[in-house]
Amino acid sequence: MDMETLKGWTGQRIKQDEIARYMDQGRDFIDDEAIEAAVRAAEGREPDPAHVRDILAKSLAVKDLVPAEVLTLINVNDKVMLEEMRAAALAVKLKVYDNRIVTFAPLYLGNYCVNRCAYCGFNSDNASAARKVLSQEEIRREVEVLAGEIGHKRLIVVYGEHPKNDVDYIVESLKTIYAVKVKTKRGVNAIRRINVNAPPFCVDDLKKINDAGIGTYQVFQETYHKKTYARMHPKGTIKGDYHWRLYAMHRAMEAGIDDVGIGALFGLYDWRFELIALVRHTQELEKRMGIGAHTISFPRLVPALNSIITPGWPHLVSDDDFKKIMMIIRLAVPYTGMIITAREKGPIRDEAVRLGVTQMDASSHIAIGGYTHAAAAQEKDKQQFILGDTRSLDELIRDLAGQGFITSFCTAGYRCGRTGKCIMDLLRSGAEGKFCKLNAILTFQEWVDDFGSEATKALAQPLIEREIGEVQRKNPQALAVFMDYYERVKKGERDLYL
Ligand code: SF4
Repeated sequence: MDMETLKGWTGQRIKQDEIARYMDQGRDFIDDEAIEAAVRAAEGREPDPAHVRDILAKSLAVKDLVPAEVLTLINVNDKVMLEEMRAAALAVKLKVYDNRIVTFAPLYLGNYCVNRCAYCGFNSDNASAARKVLSQEEIRREVEVLAGEIGHKRLIVVYGEHPKNDVDYIVESLKTIYAVKVKTKRGVNAIRRINVNAPPFCVDDLKKINDAGIGTYQVFQETYHKKTYARMHPKGTIKGDYHWRLYAMHRAMEAGIDDVGIGALFGLYDWRFELIALVRHTQELEKRMGIGAHTISFPRLVPALNSIITPGWPHLVSDDDFKKIMMIIRLAVPYTGMIITAREKGPIRDEAVRLGVTQMDASSHIAIGGYTHAAAAQEKDKQQFILGDTRSLDELIRDLAGQGFITSFCTAGYRCGRTGKCIMDLLRSGAEGKFCKLNAILTFQEWVDDFGSEATKALAQPLIEREIGEVQRKNPQALAVFMDYYERVKKGERDLYL
């Protein structure tokens, strides 16, 4: 593609009217000065334990926290109170999501990019990155490995911002992925839910993506701090427009996408600012669009080729602060899904499930074509970052089962219309567990029978029996239907859900 065509494409992406109509008299919902001032004013002041306990009680009642309450939790450093926060985060997680962890795999379809983010190895100035966009045939082969060999049923598909990855390519690739059906030991497996991580689009393009049948649409703001945003994303690039990105989810919801995923790249700026802004973002969506974020992601910066982020960068987030971030997100938005990816190392991911996280990937390859080629080592020139946890799905499931967590492959929600406000209301009321626990057991049994190693089966099967016992006790009215489905799954029927 010649430079003129590329320039023309880039110049037409941003529709200013699709920003302006969401702003409030020309102002957005992130007030940098007010957040900065509040963070500075509270800095170093240990909050009153009684006040902290009131806030924790509010979270335990599955109520949102306001930014001032988030700020109070940020300033807790007393060891006893930190332990109380940790216990409350786990209690909220168990109350809303029970002991389920949803799993998925990332699938990167291309690494061409028109942007020049200062922290990213895929930026268009990096001539040493090996660029590629997968053809539909290559996508099909990747999915055959993901669904046929590993057993995944849910993907997050990642697209760069480039004409080669434009909306028509996205729609075609979604159709390709959904069409792959792979024979397994006991039945047929397929990808049943595709979440999409893509650039911000205009409403018309988002409607096309929605019509292709996606789960969650993710766009991360990276940093909500405007000065840092401007420094990281050069003017004149699409991503250089802070507001086009900030209102991506407003447009997605206007286009009919119910489930949206927001996130910040922790480490670009002061994590306390980003955390308050993330909470502001989901609350703004709830207020303006009627429903908050379906998921929140909180990736931490990791080394990349040609990145300006070096070990001395002032905002890198320590493990202790990272754990606090996870606890506070869980407490601030009790019913919102939380995703920790294999960017992070195994031990911190294992701990994260007890701090509130609800979704994790495994057997992940993030090089373009990485599942088909399955390189033993990570490929720095083909990856956006280096993975910290390279456990297989079988290993992760075994480790989670060892901690008493059941891995769910349930994708029933969006196929039954339990999305958006409907699923959020069910989560808030605790009624969601009625469906989700049952579907988690059914899909977990499917995976164990089709893909589990003997070592994993040995841990997973007793856990499944225990869960069935719990259904008997806690949800007896669903037992007959559930047991009918369960027996059919054991005999080899697949993709049964309630
Ligand atoms: S972070 Fe995304 S948009 Fe920015 S350069 Fe990297 S791939 Fe492109």
